[in-house]
Amino acid sequence: MSYHIPFIDPRSHYAKLKPEIDRAIIDCLASGDLVNRHQLKDFEQHLAEFVGVKYAVGVNSGYHALLFALLGAGVGPGHEVITVAHTFVATVSAIVNCGAQPVLIDVGRDFNMNVDLIERAITSKTKALLPVHLNGRVCEMDRIQALADKHGLAVIEDAAQALGATFDGKRAGSQGRAGCFSFYPFKVLGGFGDGGAITTNDTALARMATLLRYNGEDRATGEYHYHGQTALLDNVQAAVLDVKLRYLPEWIAHRRRIAAAYHRGLTGIPQLQIPQFDEARHLDIFQNYVIRTRVRDQLRAYLKEQGIETLVHWQKPMWEHTGLGLAVPDVPETLSICREVVSLPMSAETTAAQVDVIVAAVRAFFSTQP
Ligand SMILES: *Cc1c(COP(=O)(O)O)cnc(C)c1O
Repeated sequence: MSYHIPFIDPRSHYAKLKPEIDRAIIDCLASGDLVNRHQLKDFEQHLAEFVGVKYAVGVNSGYHALLFALLGAGVGPGHEVITVAHTFVATVSAIVNCGAQPVLIDVGRDFNMNVDLIERAITSKTKALLPVHLNGRVCEMDRIQALADKHGLAVIEDAAQALGATFDGKRAGSQGRAGCFSFYPFKVLGGFGDGGAITTNDTALARMATLLRYNGEDRATGEYHYHGQTALLDNVQAAVLDVKLRYLPEWIAHRRRIAAAYHRGLTGIPQLQIPQFDEARHLDIFQNYVIRTRVRDQLRAYLKEQGIETLVHWQKPMWEHTGLGLAVPDVPETLSICREVVSLPMSAETTAAQVDVIVAAVRAFFSTQP
């Protein structure tokens, strides 16, 4: 079916920037700048400046950013990495594909790692903590880093949903040993296919990621230092992302205005929880606007009838996908989240008028609920 209000609208997103994007692509094609050229280095430099770190290393997905950051932190067979049960599967697959064991803990009310549960999950095998800054909100990095320091662990940030978000004024991806970003088309900074980056102040980790993404080869000497992978961020993608990065602050401001409009419109519905998190130390960028209700499936069906598209991240708990071979964790909050969450339309193209329609529809739905 075609939606009256789609969840995201990639065509109008492109239309707004078409002249600049087309020019960036055509420049690459016309000059033959296809692999590892100045467009990639420019984007990496601008991204590093934006995040507030020394290095950014462009790779071909958020998954590869996580994989190389973990390998760069020395994670391998025999190690455990503590992360959350409520995340995208790539977070966990990166740990498994390093040969390490993921240890899944629960999240708190703001969908981020429950810091109170970390210490009891640490064992002699624990090598790293992998907090996920979900929906555009940074985890409590000061407490996480303090625990990591106390136990001699690395902190790798899954910042795939949080580019531009801050905690205590520091941006996502600037506080741990490394930050991992995704430029999947529907992330806050999206390319036109897969893409990702690692951010870090650690020279050795940046160098290892730079070699791993390019078959282990040091381009200056021709020496292969590792069995690496073919996982470079495409030069053409980097050229487009470099254009879009300049608009990111504007898009973040827009997302926050849309979130505020949802907040005003949806406050005071008893059966509905809206994101209402302490912002004293946080600046959230609302990659997703996630609401919670026990009647989630009925609400979604009703909104669909009204032509309003919604998404659920994620309906089936990760460990119930038996092919992944994960142990069943004790994570009650994650389990109820799987049953209760739904994400409303949210992007740089979402309009105030659309929010009014969505708010009216949500209110109409709940007015029929007992
Ligand atoms: C999108 C995402 C990733 C991975 O991104 P890809 O670029 O698709 O590999 C990892 N973690 C989280 C939380 C994400 O949302």
